[in-house]
Amino acid sequence: MIVDLRSDTVTLPSKDMLKFMMDSSVGDDVYGEDPTVNLLQTKVAAIFGKEVGMFFPTGTMANQTAIKLHTNPGEQVICDKYSHIYNYEGGGASFNSGVSFKLINGKRGMFTCEQAANSINPKDFYHSPLSSLIAIENTTNKGGGACWDINELKKINKLAKSNKLGIHLDGARIWNALVETGDNPLEIGKNFDTISVCLSKGLGCPIGSVLIGDKKIMSNALRIRKILGGGMRQSGYLANAGIYALENNINRLKEDHIKASEIGEVLKKSKFVKSVEKIETNIVIFELNKEIDEVSFIRKLDKLNIKLISMGSNKLRLVTHLNYTNNHHEYFISTIRSL
Ligand SMILES: *Cc1c(COP(=O)(O)O)cnc(C)c1O
Repeated sequence: MIVDLRSDTVTLPSKDMLKFMMDSSVGDDVYGEDPTVNLLQTKVAAIFGKEVGMFFPTGTMANQTAIKLHTNPGEQVICDKYSHIYNYEGGGASFNSGVSFKLINGKRGMFTCEQAANSINPKDFYHSPLSSLIAIENTTNKGGGACWDINELKKINKLAKSNKLGIHLDGARIWNALVETGDNPLEIGKNFDTISVCLSKGLGCPIGSVLIGDKKIMSNALRIRKILGGGMRQSGYLANAGIYALENNINRLKEDHIKASEIGEVLKKSKFVKSVEKIETNIVIFELNKEIDEVSFIRKLDKLNIKLISMGSNKLRLVTHLNYTNNHHEYFISTIRSL
């Protein structure tokens, strides 16, 4: 038995999901003729009240396309210092869109409307880059799975609109946020021009993300996806995994959140743990005591068939997910208690 808590991307498609995928009707999606891709795109767009959805192989490509849609080279994207688009997309924003970032020093990957307002460069001050996009992540990844307050999102949307800035949501784990907060996805949708969502994280699909928005902003998305190499052919087999996941794997995310908070309680009582960050969803970030070396700690757990990752600065991250079973949970908790 291997307990893999490195990420919720390690989930495998279930037998039922695979069966559903094999039964897909497909066509050439580059011609817009894959009925299953079209259905998934329509479904995801409708959940958030948007007109158009577009299927992508990865969340990174969906985010990169969004950045390109909202910006011109030389302009600036405002986001938190922990953002995935800044830290974990290989520098793609500068490579693909030629933009720079104005990083906000937020809390747990989230910032206030006031901080966002202070980050907008004045339009007529031509010495500084032109601010053109505010990007938000919900839940925050490096921020430890934190969920945004809908009221702050509303304020930031108003700010973006009044300054004629685009506003994008990296909603790789928006499903976790929705399950946890009970927010209405239509309300979330109203506050963003574009939203990317992942199907291959907690939802167990082998691959897939969807970028959604209204027709006007999305009109160039097809061309950008093509340029980035994301025009796929009979991708309905993959899209159908997404349709299966939307129907079967969203409500159960709550179980992952409960397990994460139980893990947090045990870690708090462990003598090798200095602190545990607030746990809201399925991500647990904790800091080891100074005298414990993170590399040897990870190696020790690895020998016990438990996998988790380092976030640097003696902090470790673990993520609960679809394939982290009750048996895994019992084994992990008892192992931590015995260390
Ligand atoms: C995983 C993730 C993505 C997309 O990652 P891919 O591996 O490219 O699918 C984007 N944003 C956040 C916050 C993520 O956690």
